[in-house]
Amino acid sequence: MEGFSGGAEWDQSHEVKSQVEEQKAVYNVQCWGCTQWLVLPSYAPNFKCGWCGALTIYKAPQPARSRWSMWLLTFRDRAFVTIVLAIIASIVCGGVWAAFPVLFPTISLGLVFHSLVTVILLFNTVFNFALSSHVQAGPVGKISWGEIGFVPKGGLEGHTFCDYCQSPKPASAHHCRKCATCVMDMDHHCPFIGNCVGANNHRYFILFLLYTVISCLYVFVMGLYTGLQVWPSVISINYSLKRVPRQIPMGLALGSHILAALIDSPLLLSSRALALIYLVVASIAISTAVGLLLYQQVNLLYSGETFIDSLSTYTKSKDREGWDNLRRVFGNRHPFWWLLPIFRTYSDSSLKKIHVR
Ligand SMILES: [Zn+2]
Ligand SMILES: [Zn+2]
Ligand SMILES: [Zn+2]
Repeated sequence: MEGFSGGAEWDQSHEVKSQVEEQKAVYNVQCWGCTQWLVLPSYAPNFKCGWCGALTIYKAPQPARSRWSMWLLTFRDRAFVTIVLAIIASIVCGGVWAAFPVLFPTISLGLVFHSLVTVILLFNTVFNFALSSHVQAGPVGKISWGEIGFVPKGGLEGHTFCDYCQSPKPASAHHCRKCATCVMDMDHHCPFIGNCVGANNHRYFILFLLYTVISCLYVFVMGLYTGLQVWPSVISINYSLKRVPRQIPMGLALGSHILAALIDSPLLLSSRALALIYLVVASIAISTAVGLLLYQQVNLLYSGETFIDSLSTYTKSKDREGWDNLRRVFGNRHPFWWLLPIFRTYSDSSLKKIHVR
């Protein structure tokens, strides 16, 4: 027993001795940003450079995507974009064809007004869709590895190194493997626009959602109103229900009256009636789904977060919350100007202060 305890003491003293030696040991590591040699008191896979502020973060190497999976992702994005365009075309053409001749049989002020509303809503929806889909989501100034010259103090504050792009990545940028590039203020990769949503196209994306919701609500109201003109017997339900005996539940009476009115109509299976049913169902479904997405987007933007930020467990301080976050995306002018189809570009200036050889 004595020998055993003596052994434990020797082990303890040996452990303490090795800990002291470890504390004395220093680790020389090179900063990827300014290439200076740093002295760390102990081994650390993640550290921040005291001179340029660049972060070195260890990440396990990820397997490269196969050509097949990249092809499938591209195909999926193009298919979704085609579906979005087909839905926009079907709702606009179907709406004009099914509703306009019923509501405005002759040229009138109403026809001019609603044609103007249709053109304005369609133009804004397509304009914002095209720009959110085609502009570069958030270009980050590219500097190749080894080309960085003198980096001033704090010149790479919060930057990490993107292994895919082989270039410094600003704190708020993320690498999108589908777009194969780093995206400034990346929110998410949206298959419906076939592009990332980032600093450069966030405004167009939100306006696209907003005009989609407004357009669909307009189509829903116009579709319902046209439906009442096509099936006038539905209007008489209110009058008929007053004569329903008290023993019959009101819900049952209402359902059977609507059904009877629809079946009674010679237009039940006409193509115009089917188009109206499609318009009303599609417009309310799309405006609900897109409206929820719009609410989430504006809410996150107001609180100074991106969708990717909201997924991480790291919580940001709330003092960033406010209208300034909306102005950062929409511009400093009056909110009325935010809704107009104005082309606004963003440029990353975070790497301009670094000299390049
Ligand atoms: Zn450095
Ligand atoms: Zn990258
Ligand atoms: Zn992307």
